[in-house]
Amino acid sequence: MSSGSFNPFEMAQAQFDNIAEQLDLEPGMRQLLRNPLREYHFLIPVRMDDGSTQVFRGFRCQHNDARGPSKGGIRFHPQETIDTVRALSMWMTWKCATVDIPLGGGKGGVICDPHHLSAREQEQICRGWVRQLARNVGPVQDVPAPDVMTNAQHMLWMLDEYEHIHGGHAPGFITGKPVGMGGSLGRTEATGYGVIFTVREALRELGIRPQDTLASVQGFGNVAQYAIRLYNQLGGKVTCVSSWDQGDQTSYAFRKQNGVDIEELVSITDRFGGIDKNKAEGLGYQVLPGDAWIEEEVDILIPAALENQITGETVLKISQRVKVIAEGANGPTTPEADQVLFERGVYLIPDVLANAGGVTCSYFEQVQSNMNYFWERDEVLGKLDVKMTAAFEAVSELAKKRGIYQRDAAFMIAVDRVARACRDRGWI
Ligand code: NAD
Repeated sequence: MSSGSFNPFEMAQAQFDNIAEQLDLEPGMRQLLRNPLREYHFLIPVRMDDGSTQVFRGFRCQHNDARGPSKGGIRFHPQETIDTVRALSMWMTWKCATVDIPLGGGKGGVICDPHHLSAREQEQICRGWVRQLARNVGPVQDVPAPDVMTNAQHMLWMLDEYEHIHGGHAPGFITGKPVGMGGSLGRTEATGYGVIFTVREALRELGIRPQDTLASVQGFGNVAQYAIRLYNQLGGKVTCVSSWDQGDQTSYAFRKQNGVDIEELVSITDRFGGIDKNKAEGLGYQVLPGDAWIEEEVDILIPAALENQITGETVLKISQRVKVIAEGANGPTTPEADQVLFERGVYLIPDVLANAGGVTCSYFEQVQSNMNYFWERDEVLGKLDVKMTAAFEAVSELAKKRGIYQRDAAFMIAVDRVARACRDRGWI
């Protein structure tokens, strides 16, 4: 999905070029890493419930697999573009390398709107997606997962189709499966919890107690809801959240000065993370225009909805009180905004680190699936905390040592690891 003239792939390439320059990468390596190694474009014909046939466009990009099989989600979205998928596949490579798991980066998508598709039609899209790619994905090649508007059911249909084509069981082909069908306990919470593990560490470094902080969150889907739950457990209060209103085709922010009640809000939220604004008003929430979340007088901002939200323009609306920004979403901050945040000394926890809990837990799921084993929830979340905290410390240490922005430090660690793997394999 890309809005207006914003092109996420150009942004991802600009970020990479900047790091390649700082690492003094050789020209061949730059050429290799600034584009996906492989990409697949295909059509998925589906017989609709009314008997007509509709043809959907699907994509898969495998940005780099020098460190291990490609890994990354599949999005269903009416405004999906190949450049968004390319950018996200590149960010997945950096994300897996930042948290040091033995996987590369991939991403996929289908241009479709699940709001207007029956369950059977969605199943046909899932099966069609796998039929087009069955020989190019798999446990040792490329391991998909859920992303925006896809869920555990979609993954199970895809797994079933993959196993049907190849014969036998291959639960390590895909992650985000339902628990009880090879899914890992802790996966649902993993990304949101991971965001807060890194926020906890950032606050520790800044000498601030979580219970003395307020936060504002963009989005109220999977990432946002679990981030808010864990942040509340640490004692923090969220005063504002926002979400997309499907009916009005716009976003709204929901504000409560003494803290939103997560369970109450979840009870009036649809399965796509849209909050019912009439019910919210009835419960005493102030309903504001969607971009109000960014102007909140808080200590922590958590963009957890979309890319391109903190821009050269919107960054100027951020309160001077904000000390930490944790990127739950992928690519929410543009390079112009980064410059302003760095100069202001805001502690930015970049997406490749902050939201890496999801892919880290997916990796744990894959390990369990490949071994036909099943870990307890506390074991999964405990391992996740260890991995995220270690990655946070490495990024923070490099940023301090070189006096650089946290995003640059994370990217330098990640790009260097991937470049070394390419060199060690003799690719460059
Ligand atoms: P989701 O579909 O569960 O929720 C998305 C939320 O964003 C919904 O509440 C929706 O209403 C809201 N939203 C959409 N457009 C909006 C707008 N213009 N303004 C305000 N709110 C808006 O998705 P999710 O899984 O929570 O993912 C959110 C972000 O985090 C995405 O960028 C995704 O790529 C990223 N991410 C997710 C995971 C994961 O494990 N789920 C992992 C890493 C990164």
